[in-house]
Amino acid sequence: MQTRETQGLVLYNRNYREDDKLVKIFTETDGKRMFFVKHASKSKLNSVIQPLTVADFILKLNDNGLSYIEDYKDVELYKEINADLFKLSYASYVVALADAAIADNVADPQLFVFLKKTLELMDQGLDYEVLTNIFEVQILDRFGVRLNFHECVFCHRVGLPFDFSHQYSGLLCPEHYQEDDRRNHLDPNVPYLLDRFQNVSFEELQSISVKPEMKQKLRHFLDEVYDDYVGIRLKSKKFIDDLSKWGDVMKPADDK
Ligand SMILES: [Zn+2]
Repeated sequence: MQTRETQGLVLYNRNYREDDKLVKIFTETDGKRMFFVKHASKSKLNSVIQPLTVADFILKLNDNGLSYIEDYKDVELYKEINADLFKLSYASYVVALADAAIADNVADPQLFVFLKKTLELMDQGLDYEVLTNIFEVQILDRFGVRLNFHECVFCHRVGLPFDFSHQYSGLLCPEHYQEDDRRNHLDPNVPYLLDRFQNVSFEELQSISVKPEMKQKLRHFLDEVYDDYVGIRLKSKKFIDDLSKWGDVMKPADDK
């Protein structure tokens, strides 16, 4: 067993036996790990093992079994996310995606930082649907999926009204539309935005604004991409899909 001080994000916890809990934490230094918390309800750890909690943890890591949380400090909570069902469901989906994308016990500090930053920006009130799309696009390569939304797969020209071809797993320019008669017939703004999302820096994010109609097109196409290339079905995603069906009823009137 080794002791480690690292920042970590709680992914989820679940009950184990009477009053114990298993807690999955994505740590910056050591990837995702499962921790055992004895007598959770009476433990001082109880408040810090809730999903979407970030803290500096002092951990006892065990490579061949359960690990333990020794202590913690500097707890950060996403108050705005937790106060809003919509934000919370998107944040939960993004966290579940990160969990699905990498194996346990493998360090991925880059993904850790990216996930944390995405949640921070959601909490600060940036567009959670756009942030989710950006996260989905950028995390594709963790699933082994590399799609180029920048240039035509045939002539490599850039900056044209592109369409997407599943047959060629890439973009077609107007001159090469004919190569695939089952091409997507996308709004060219969809690949344009996905190209931007693939390379966007967090500093630029404030300047991206997407109209509701375009968001729907992005959502629809990314669902197709995830169905065809990633092939996972997360409960948290299903929840978002259901939310959007009755979402308009729930949203405050001035949001409609
Ligand atoms: Zn072309």
